[in-house]
This record gives sequence, C-alpha cells and structure tokens, in this order.
Amino acid sequence: MRIFSGIQPTGRKHLGNYIGAIAQYVSSQERGEGIFCVVDLHAITLPFDPAELRERSYDTIAILLAAGLDPARSTLFRQSDVPAHTELTWLLSSLTELGRLQRMHQFRDKSLAQRELVSAALLLYPVLQAADVLAYRAHEVPVGEDQREHLELMRDVARRFNSRYGDGEDVLVVPEHRISQVGARIMDLQDPTSKMSTSVGSEQGTVYVLDEPKAIEKKLKSAVTDSGSDVRRDPQKPGVSNLIEILAAVRGVGPEAIESELADARYGELKGAVAAAVVDYLAPVRERYDALRRDERALEAILAAGAERAEIRFGKRHIGRFGIVEQGPDFLLKSWCLRHGSPDGNKRHEESQRGPKAFPHGCPREFAARQPNSPLAPSIN
Ligand code: ATP
Ligand code: MG
Repeated sequence: MRIFSGIQPTGRKHLGNYIGAIAQYVSSQERGEGIFCVVDLHAITLPFDPAELRERSYDTIAILLAAGLDPARSTLFRQSDVPAHTELTWLLSSLTELGRLQRMHQFRDKSLAQRELVSAALLLYPVLQAADVLAYRAHEVPVGEDQREHLELMRDVARRFNSRYGDGEDVLVVPEHRISQVGARIMDLQDPTSKMSTSVGSEQGTVYVLDEPKAIEKKLKSAVTDSGSDVRRDPQKPGVSNLIEILAAVRGVGPEAIESELADARYGELKGAVAAAVVDYLAPVRERYDALRRDERALEAILAAGAERAEIRFGKRHIGRFGIVEQGPDFLLKSWCLRHGSPDGNKRHEESQRGPKAFPHGCPREFAARQPNSPLAPSIN
C-alpha cells in the first residue's frame, strides 16, 4: 500500500498538526510505503517571504525526522523540487468544477482572512493537493479532519479522469483518507470554536511542537474553558471538550477513559494533567530536533534524495495526452506534445523522441530546448 501526505512549511508546526497528521505519518510506516512532502507550493498561496519559506521548510523536515520519519524507509521531499506536481495540477484543473472550488470551506475562510491579495492559487490549492496524491497513485492519505472536503474533491477528480480518459481502466487510484478517531481536529486554546492553525489563530491559543515546557504549561493552563465544572465532552463546552480530546490523543486512549478518570476533577486539574502529558509527549521531539535542524547540508541531502525517489515513483506509469503512458517521468511533457490527442499520439511521441522532425503539431520551445543537440538548447560555458 502506498501512503501519501503533505504538510505546509508555513509558521511553526503545532500540536494539532502533530496529533492529527505527523503522528499518523510515523505510525503509517509500519503499514506501507510512505511518501511525505513538505508542500512549499501550498504555502505560497498566502503572502510569503522567500528566505523565510526556505527556513521554515528546513524546520518542517527536521520536525518530521525528529518525530520518527525514517528517510531510509519513506520518501521525504520538498514539493517544488518535483515539477510534475504543478504540471499535473494544470491538467487536473481542466476536470475540476470552478464552483466547487469557490465553495470549499478552506478557500472561503482563508480568502476572508486576507486583507490584500486573494490569489488564484488559493482557489486552486485543492487541485494542487489532488495532483500531489494522484501523481503517486497513493491509496491512503493520513490527514486531519479539516482535509475531508479536499479529499472528497480529489476522489471525484480521479473518478472523472478515469471515466473520461481511462479507457476502462482505473489509471488514477481513488485514494482513501485516513482520519484518526481521536485528535483529528484540535481546537485553538483561546478560541475553541476554531481549529488550531498554522496560518491563522492566536499565539497563546497554539501549542507549537518546539515550545519550551514552560510555554506549553502556560498556554494549556490559560486555555479558555466553559461555564459549569464537569469534566465531560459537550457541544456547549468546546474548551473542556478540546482539552479532553488532547489528553486522550496524547495518551493514546479514548476520550471516555479520560472522562471517567477525571469524573471528580475540576477544570484546574484537567488543565494540569493535559499540560504535563503534552510536555512529556513533545519533549523527545524537541530534543532530537535541535541536532537535526543544525545540519542544513544533511537536510538538503535528504530532500534531494527524496525528490529523486519521488520522480522514480511517479515515472513508472502515468498519463500522457490524457491517455496512458507506461514509461518515463516526462509524461507531462509528452502530454503537452501530444495535446491534440489523436489515437496514435503515444506512438508519435515515441517517434518524436528520435529526432526533432517528428513533432507533427509543433513542439513547445521549452521542450525542444531540452533535447540534446537542439539549436535551442542553452549553451553551457
Ligand atoms: P493552515 O491552517 O494554514 O491550513 P495547518 O495548520 O492546517 O495550516 P497544514 O500544513 O495545512 O497546517 O496541515 C498539515 C496537516 O495537519 C493536515 O493533514 C491537516 O489536516 C492537519 N491539521 C491541521 N490542523 C489540525 C488540527 N487543528 N487538528 C488536527 N489536525 C490538523
Ligand atoms: Mg491546513
């Protein structure tokens, strides 16, 4: 089984990311072949600073390694190092309903929060996400609850592709999401009606994976709670419900177990128990992180090896001209060259590889320039 998931390098990663996604990535290594991606191209859908983005990408990959992702077992890479993601996005955008993108909750929330530019990239975010997963024919996508809607879209795009262009075959795998029972939506501690988030949300309401123990304690002990005094989950008690959920997720038990354990406790005791458990939970990650983060050359080497492996993974069997091409990672270039889609398109592509004369419909300049001996090829001094 192939497992794919991506994580943004924006801001600092938080407890919600850790419980809802990263911890799942780590355990999924026991079940299948993991492909995990630092999605820097998703991060640029909101205003960004390039130097900062580079730093945050290193931070994020170091957190993933510190959490226990093993580059010998899993493919770890940076999205922008593998250009096929963006190229496939364009192809899949032709199969995606505009209206549905406009109705996506994340697009609506993030575009409302934007003061200046609401980018077209923000709208297309779920198509890029579909390309990320579908490119590798992944079967399973571990994510938090907030991604359910995007996963549904991706599944529909894959089905539409297969029915239109698959010629009776499931060329694209329709992936399943894997959303954990406990901790799939950790809420902001200061506003427990909003999810803990990398890009929006309050500093005091967000526990970062790399926070010092003192900061973690302070944030959890000043978490907003609700009226009443019972430690139990209730839609009317979002603050207390969130703390119960966090404690359950960190301890690896169901929330009922926490409710019965703390049946006679007060809110203060609940907060103290959550703070102690979260400090213990994150301490080993923070300890391993420092050494890993310091060595940027080693991080780059891991990312480069991962990108190479990722390219091999999607190259084996893919789509060209909205038909099937079995070999070569340049399937997307093929799809451009064969864009007129005649039935012998793939054959013509094979011929075109042998010499520049064989592009019956003309070839994009960029592709031609990449051919050996092409007069368009840039000279290297
Ligand atoms: P943003 O709010 O800007 O989208 P984010 O905090 O959601 O950022 P992402 O990199 O988009 O960070 O998400 C990485 C993974 O973490 C995704 O699988 C997402 O579903 C999961 N996740 C994000 N927030 C939470 C949360 N509060 N609780 C549980 N899982 C979460
Ligand atoms: Mg997100």
